[in-house]
Amino acid sequence: MTVEDVRVLDSDEATGHGGRAIAEMEAHAAHNYHPLPVVLAQGEGAWVEDVDGRRYLDMLAGYSALNFGHRHPRLVAAAERQLGRLTLTSRAFHNDLLGTFAAELSALCGMDTILPMNTGAEAVETAIKMARKWGYQAKGVAEGRARIIVFGGNFHGRTTTIISFSDDPGARAGFGPYTPGFVRVPYGDAAALAAAMDEDTVAVLLEPIQGEAGVIVPADGYLAAAREITSRHGALLWLDEVQTGIGRSGAWFDHQREGIVPDLVTVAKGLGNGFPIGACLATGATADLIQPGMHGSTFGGNPLASRAALTVLGILEPLLPQINAVGDQLAADLTGLPGVVAVHGRGLLRGVQLEKPVGAAMVAAGLEAGFILNAARPDRIRLAPPLIITSDDLVPFVAAWPALYSRALAA
Ligand code: PMP
Repeated sequence: MTVEDVRVLDSDEATGHGGRAIAEMEAHAAHNYHPLPVVLAQGEGAWVEDVDGRRYLDMLAGYSALNFGHRHPRLVAAAERQLGRLTLTSRAFHNDLLGTFAAELSALCGMDTILPMNTGAEAVETAIKMARKWGYQAKGVAEGRARIIVFGGNFHGRTTTIISFSDDPGARAGFGPYTPGFVRVPYGDAAALAAAMDEDTVAVLLEPIQGEAGVIVPADGYLAAAREITSRHGALLWLDEVQTGIGRSGAWFDHQREGIVPDLVTVAKGLGNGFPIGACLATGATADLIQPGMHGSTFGGNPLASRAALTVLGILEPLLPQINAVGDQLAADLTGLPGVVAVHGRGLLRGVQLEKPVGAAMVAAGLEAGFILNAARPDRIRLAPPLIITSDDLVPFVAAWPALYSRALAA
């Protein structure tokens, strides 16, 4: 097949919002998502464009992954350069980038090592294995008895083991038998966590902010309490920063605000700015137990992904003050507008709690008006625009909010 053979949809053959592309998806792609009726063809910065040339402000950024927006010039240049040099070696050999990337990422998080994978769910699966291995070999838990404590409303991915400890019936029902070894306690309740610890508990798996649940922020001090409880009981504190990390909440890693050092950290999404990469970060004692043959991935740690992530790590720092300032401004501007009960979150991960459960209608109204929105829950709009967005970019969105909400109420 030549480049000429690749059929590019244009407005002539698409009907409305790319009717043909949508029809082909409906007919030939599994319906595991319910996408909005818009067919995006390109993007730049915080903006995307559909096949008919209509522009939209991207307020979701690939579920919080495109931290630097679409086609960031430094990321494009770095990826193009690497595409022309070396893309995949497998881990049967060393490559000249993975070590540097591992050293930089682990230092930024105050950890010792990284185990690179390709997605958030894979990073989480990796950490489950590390925590269990540590439990049996270092803590002395009897084989097969390791427990990991998780939280109500959690989201950590879609594998069969991960959905085994989800409390979302849509994610879980019909996919059993489920993996044992997980205990769920209420999120944000340090006393409930302390009460659930026992001698077989190897780890506590915590999201610093629950993103998929609608941007649920625990009280200040909760992470520090979890650190104290896990240390006291000789268990690992594992923070899943797949959504919150790499600047999303206004810090390199959200947990750094509480000055704690966890034992395991999982990251993905923003780490590659849209290029698939995930990693499990660990302290030496935990990571050292993973030996050759115990875990791996054909693509994990490939030079192209390492280059993308290294570039991301090299450009985030100066942006952190802006992320906090723009995020705080957005929250302040939305507070008090029609339908807004409260704006939760930090940095540019915000959850707008609505008076009425009209999230889906709000998303539809947003699309009509040129805004890509996401309702994490019927009464919660999740705002996670690219971190490079400016307050000026957001002025039209804030101005449109009252009309969007009244249209959603009328729908
Ligand atoms: N952990 C958290 C906290 C997440 O928010 C997500 C994705 N929403 C995942 C894990 C799974 O990541 P992925 O979709 O890359 O598998």
